[in-house]
Amino acid sequence: MSVSRPDCLFCRIVAGEVPADVVREGERVVAFRDVNPQAPTHVLVIPRDHYPDAAAAGAARSGLLDEIVREAGEIARAEGIAETGYRLVFNTGSAAGQTVFHLHGHLLGGRGMEWPPG
Ligand code: 5GP
Ligand code: ZN
Repeated sequence: MSVSRPDCLFCRIVAGEVPADVVREGERVVAFRDVNPQAPTHVLVIPRDHYPDAAAAGAARSGLLDEIVREAGEIARAEGIAETGYRLVFNTGSAAGQTVFHLHGHLLGGRGMEWPPG
């Protein structure tokens, strides 16, 4: 299944129609730096296929969440933050702060982080 939405910003990044600072590309996922970074490392890991959020990809048993987690781990290693620690966040729904409704994991690291988040 390959699903793309012409009105979706992240589908357009996957298609190369909107420029992005891509750090890794896989068969099913793409990772690029967030345009408004919240930490020294802030990378978005997204599937090429359009799913609105993590819950939808999980319900569809897409296997993509596993892949995103694995990919984020590889990027964390490459960025030198795997040992100190990093955060992988899936904002799901507008009350959680989701603004782009194409599944993405935020990989954040390179600074200390508070818990609970704001
Ligand atoms: P959300 O708020 O949906 O969890 O995260 C969306 C993220 O996408 C935000 O952190 C925002 O800075 C980032 N973002 C929005 N538009 C663009 C863009 O055009 N390019 C890139 N690289 N990141 C974007
Ligand atoms: Zn999309």
